Amino acid sequence: MAKEKLKVLLVEDNPTDALIVKKKLQKDSAFDYDVMHVVSGEDAIAALEKDPYDIALLDYNLPKKSGMDTLKDIKAKKIEMPVVMITGQSDEAVAVELMKQGAMDYLPKREGYEDSVPLMIRKTIAEFRAKYERERLQKEIALRKDELENINQKLMELDRMKSDFVANVVHELRTPLTLIKANLDNIDKGFAGEVQPQQKEIISDVFRVVNRLARLVSDLLDLSKIESGKMQLKKEVVDVVELAEEVLKGFDKVAVEKKVAIKREFPKTVVNIKADRDKLTQVFVNLIGNGLKFTDKGDVTVTIIDLQGEVQVEILDAGPGMEKEDTEKIFDKFVRVVAEKKEGTGLGLPIAKDIITLHKGRIRVESEPGKGSNFIFNLPK
Ligand code: ADP
Repeated sequence: MAKEKLKVLLVEDNPTDALIVKKKLQKDSAFDYDVMHVVSGEDAIAALEKDPYDIALLDYNLPKKSGMDTLKDIKAKKIEMPVVMITGQSDEAVAVELMKQGAMDYLPKREGYEDSVPLMIRKTIAEFRAKYERERLQKEIALRKDELENINQKLMELDRMKSDFVANVVHELRTPLTLIKANLDNIDKGFAGEVQPQQKEIISDVFRVVNRLARLVSDLLDLSKIESGKMQLKKEVVDVVELAEEVLKGFDKVAVEKKVAIKREFPKTVVNIKADRDKLTQVFVNLIGNGLKFTDKGDVTVTIIDLQGEVQVEILDAGPGMEKEDTEKIFDKFVRVVAEKKEGTGLGLPIAKDIITLHKGRIRVESEPGKGSNFIFNLPK
């Protein structure tokens, strides 16, 4: 295989030293060396300005412009190339200063130093290339980061526009829906003439659909309020046990119809927290509603645990449960996993999660397929 060509700039005022180094390089097998020899710092800069070099071997003791000044000049001119200094004495302080000024390495000019030159070149070239690659990657990463930040900004802007759009549309839907419901109610009550049993049935079907639509609209409005940061909490002292009892009363009829028992594991005393009563009610309604909806056989158990500084609420059902991967997804908007046949919007859990988060609480679900689900949330007192 052909050897890689390496252009070396040898800055050496002593012709014998220069010759010895050149000879050493000719014998070295690592590269096919193309050595340009100059005798002063001024000539070195002139050569570098004319052609690119892979490496420079720069004598520290030069007659007019010193090795140190030449090195500084190379760096000031931003010439991208590794420089190895050939120092005259084994003076650590000089070496430290040279490295500080940007030399990649240094070689003291002791007896037989030229034997080390080829190895020094190989090592320096490898280090320089690694450093160059590292810097290139760092630049690339910084560039990608900027690009991603830009894209993220744009996406956030689009997301905001989309949320505004949804909020507007949903808002506009509310008025006609209220009107449809009111008129339907009037027809149902016979204000527009006697209603035949068959017509009653149709009205009842339409009512169900309209109510579902109204629920979706109201859920979407809630979500868009939360997302735009417009949902304000009206915090007051709330007894979680009393609130849970109140919500459960509302589910008594459905539970009896479904033959699902709702069990309560409540503390005997009040458990007061500071919360928005209406919003918290919504969380209980959504979670208990789901528990009942998904349980066809068995119980739903609501547990309240009074803990130090917080309250824990668990809603355990005997429904189908879910796969581990679904337990996180279901808190995202419009995700419906096993519910294709059950009525719902896929918004109940995201709303519950947002409300809990607004209260600085946390919510999660423990579930396994066939073993029911336990929705657990904690709220600070
Ligand atoms: P919805 O119930 O209106 O579809 P949710 O946001 O309340 O919307 O729930 C999202 C999905 O999470 C449901 O469609 C269902 O797939 C799953 N899920 C929620 N609660 C339960 C539960 N108790 N048991 C099993 N799956 C549930």
